[in-house]
Amino acid sequence: MSRSDELTAVASAVLEERLKKPKIGEDHPTKCYMRDGEGEPGEVTGSVRRCQMAGCNGVRIMVRWPNGKVTWPCSRGLQTRRDGAWQIM
Ligand SMILES: [Zn+2]
Repeated sequence: MSRSDELTAVASAVLEERLKKPKIGEDHPTKCYMRDGEGEPGEVTGSVRRCQMAGCNGVRIMVRWPNGKVTWPCSRGLQTRRDGAWQIM
């Protein structure tokens, strides 16, 4: 098994674990703030996808922002704030 195969296996395991809990907000933050921590937070919808970045075993989290725009920040690029919400690093 190559290194990248191993990483893919890890990513699959992480994703499957997440997908067992389709409502990610039950035990994960339901809000996500922009990098500057200002403004209205986006809504964590609970949808996840495997992160496609080479070497990353995170998952992409669907966030719907107040302006209606949807982005998929990587779980590896999120930090948990003191108030329990996520914030993009
Ligand atoms: Zn990633």
